[in-house]
Amino acid sequence: MGKIILTGDRPTGRLHLGHFVGSLRRRVELQNSGLFDKIFIMIADAQALTDNADNPEKIRQNIIEVALDYLACGIDPEKSTIFIQSQVAELCELAFYYMNLVTVSRLQRNPTVKTEIQMRNFETSIPVGFFTYPISQASDITAFRATTVPAGEDQQPMIEQAREIVRRFNGIYGEGTLVEPEILLPDNAACMRLPGTDGKAKMSKSLGNCIYLSDSSEEVRKRVMSMYTDPDHIRVEDPGKVEGNTVFTYLDAFCRPEHFAQYWPDYNNLDELKAHYMRGGLGDVKVKKFLYAILEELLTPIRERRKEWEKDIPAVFDILKKGSETARMVAAETLSDVRRTMRIDYFDDAELIAEQARKFQG
Ligand code: ATP
Ligand code: MG
Repeated sequence: MGKIILTGDRPTGRLHLGHFVGSLRRRVELQNSGLFDKIFIMIADAQALTDNADNPEKIRQNIIEVALDYLACGIDPEKSTIFIQSQVAELCELAFYYMNLVTVSRLQRNPTVKTEIQMRNFETSIPVGFFTYPISQASDITAFRATTVPAGEDQQPMIEQAREIVRRFNGIYGEGTLVEPEILLPDNAACMRLPGTDGKAKMSKSLGNCIYLSDSSEEVRKRVMSMYTDPDHIRVEDPGKVEGNTVFTYLDAFCRPEHFAQYWPDYNNLDELKAHYMRGGLGDVKVKKFLYAILEELLTPIRERRKEWEKDIPAVFDILKKGSETARMVAAETLSDVRRTMRIDYFDDAELIAEQARKFQG
């Protein structure tokens, strides 16, 4: 069996550094590794509508933003299929059958859904679609027979739920029909859940604490210079803390030893820099300038590639259209297997028709 990737993002805004370290960077590496037979990258507009039902225009406007961010980061439409979720109707049908395999209490226990409900202040008015999005996500993953889902830590409960659905489905209807996916988490703790520039637990569009991949150099500088650090590190001489200090968490996520040779030869590596900060005698501004240089090195080529694609928006929509057509064909094959295993393919089931005919004749 081949190795297949499915991942995606909600088109609720442009993509940010959290997306980059949590999933996007990995996707590009895996795409170029040649180790995967197929790669599907989904713009999850239908999922985004589950908590934006009253604002479809936001989703509509952001589809192209996400597509541009993908292309800018090096997702290559020749190697990866980029598609729009709502254009693959088969996904809804799969979700409809999976819904019977999951209990309400199981969904209520999903920690990511719990946090997100709190974050959105839904309280008791949770849209059913939002509440059940882990099921819809299981259908996205299984429709493409994905073996691997590169994603951030917040997605772990979703993948676990998808695996349970697969086991339940295969157990009831037929072993081997659906494939159990595995999450591929970032290998570095800082990248699992990149904090926001305000120091909050997660950089997230919904929290407004992001550095976007398409931010201008000046915007990035401002964001970095106003970043949350150690609130007790007041004077340069004071010893500083690196744990919970966002600037250092970002360095953990983005800094490589060669960056020191290039931008700050006073140190050989991050451990040396951290030791100095903890001892005291190193000001935040210097560390922030270093981080800014590293981020600029990363973001400059992304920004430039984005500018190129922005010149030909119809071509980008064409990529999405072709990708959606390909995705639809693949999902339709899986759906047809699912219907056959569930034995709801009545009109293709000559045996059923003959058997029923005999029953009523006899
Ligand atoms: P929203 O606020 O609309 O939910 P989001 O910023 O949480 O948006 P998603 O589209 O939900 O982004 O997430 C897409 C992918 O990016 C997922 O794989 C998720 O794990 C990853 N991701 C998002 N934010 C971060 C982060 N701060 N750190 C690591 N990975 C992240
Ligand atoms: Mg999210």
